[in-house]
Amino acid sequence: MTTPKAIVTRFAPSPTGRLHVGGARTALFCWALARQANLSNPGSGAFILRIEDTDRLRSSDASTRRILDDLAWLGITWDEGPELRTSSGFAGGGDPRGVGPFEQSARFEMGEYDKVVNTLLDSGRAYHAFETPEELAAMRDAAMKAKWQFRYDRSALSIPEAERRRRAESGEPHVVRFLMADEAIEFDDEIRGHVTIQPSELDDFVIRKADGWPTYHLAVVADDEAMGVTHVIRGEEHLANTPRHVALQKALGYRIPTFAHLSLIFNPDGSKMSKRDRDKAARQACESAGLGSSPVEILPESDFERWMKDKRQALAPDQLEAIADKLDIELPEIDVCDFEAAGFLPETLCNFLSLLGWSPGDDIEKFDNEFLAQRIALGRMVKTAAKFDRKKLLSFNTDSITAMSDGEFHRRWRTWCELHDHAVLKRLDAGQVELLAAALRPRCKTLREAAVSARFALVGAEAIRFDEKAVQKTLLKDDGEGLGVLRGIRGRIEAMTEFTCDAINELVKAYSESAGVGMGKVAQPLRVALTGSTVSPPIDATLAVLGKVQVLTRIDRCLKECAVQAS
Ligand code: GLU
Repeated sequence: MTTPKAIVTRFAPSPTGRLHVGGARTALFCWALARQANLSNPGSGAFILRIEDTDRLRSSDASTRRILDDLAWLGITWDEGPELRTSSGFAGGGDPRGVGPFEQSARFEMGEYDKVVNTLLDSGRAYHAFETPEELAAMRDAAMKAKWQFRYDRSALSIPEAERRRRAESGEPHVVRFLMADEAIEFDDEIRGHVTIQPSELDDFVIRKADGWPTYHLAVVADDEAMGVTHVIRGEEHLANTPRHVALQKALGYRIPTFAHLSLIFNPDGSKMSKRDRDKAARQACESAGLGSSPVEILPESDFERWMKDKRQALAPDQLEAIADKLDIELPEIDVCDFEAAGFLPETLCNFLSLLGWSPGDDIEKFDNEFLAQRIALGRMVKTAAKFDRKKLLSFNTDSITAMSDGEFHRRWRTWCELHDHAVLKRLDAGQVELLAAALRPRCKTLREAAVSARFALVGAEAIRFDEKAVQKTLLKDDGEGLGVLRGIRGRIEAMTEFTCDAINELVKAYSESAGVGMGKVAQPLRVALTGSTVSPPIDATLAVLGKVQVLTRIDRCLKECAVQAS
């Protein structure tokens, strides 16, 4: 039994790659509208996740799974669609209205699209056409030379209908084209307003390809109708497709859904936010490092050379990540998983994404998904392209981390480290991780930054490289005042019986009082000796996490190295 719903939205990704933040924003708005309906009238909204995998060459199950995982990570749950269970439980999916399956490949196998194509053939609104790809290419070429916009000239219609059917049924290669009516197509877009397309701008587009698969246009229209979709919310790049969809919907007697095309997302410099930005950043890093050969083994030399020379070439995500790791650079985040790996919090990313093209008004900027669901209104969305301001996102993320409890941050950081920085959990015991988490939380912008700040504790004393400037300024200056502090405090550290943060604080305080120097003059030399630089977590946590033996070893090594430098 199908229960009618007031609002049915759908997010319909093609599983040909990773989930772009633009797609995540679409999914979030679709989720929020359906949720809004459910808040005012439970059961009246549904958010569908549909997998548009008709491009058999480029689609993959792995990519579908990643998209599902990314949505689950963002906290965007879908009421209907492929089911997903993650380690934290049920993430979304199901088919309570019996409108599935939700993969277009499965719907194709069931003959769903052929049914619709046949309806159009039978009503005379579609026809078989037999031009070969070469013939079509020649027609396109001729149109280009004559500076016309190519439109299929309907030559197939000069073949009598019975003959066309006979040839198609006998297995002659063919496509099926939609017979466009000679009338303007009009529709209302909630964001763009009224749109009118003249018949001269539309041609008899293909609805079923020669291999029997439906085109995107046919599949989307068939599925939106079969799934009772009331609101089609998608990126502006699909606006040009919508007249075709409306023409199909009218020819088939389908409902015309409400349309809303979301503005594109740009980089602050006005360029389109694309995966290529990552290639560009990695290429620039290779150029400035003067690399003549690939810095990573997984990238064959010939591919590396081609990629360096030709700016249009793109590497696979794992190749780019390997280069970034090797050169110790950060690539601009583009896909949802990039933001996850960079240590952003999902709720903060959702908050930020929902402000791209929409705002709740009243100067409100910080909110959660539930608030978005309460307030979202298509009428408040803007046409102008949205700018993706990474600095703002980073400041949102910093604020969220600052507002978090130590316990929550510890839990989240552990989970992040399990996926992205095994060394933290491998080298440190549970107590050390907890201690570091509490020390780092108030001063890190991302989960990743916390892991980077923890690196000093993951290596042996011999791996510490002393920063030249820090050594000069903190240890050698003023006749080696800092070295004097290290020598003086060393014995007191050795004598400690309890090596807790409190005890360490007491010791530093007592030493600074007895030596008549400020706390900073004690803490900074210790920082340099223990981590190589003047930046580290608070001094008590820095010592406590290393433990007494390691602290003494590092102080001794520093004194020895500096003695050589000073002499
Ligand atoms: N599958 C399309 C895409 O990934 C979306 C189609 C739609 O929303 O209508 O771009």
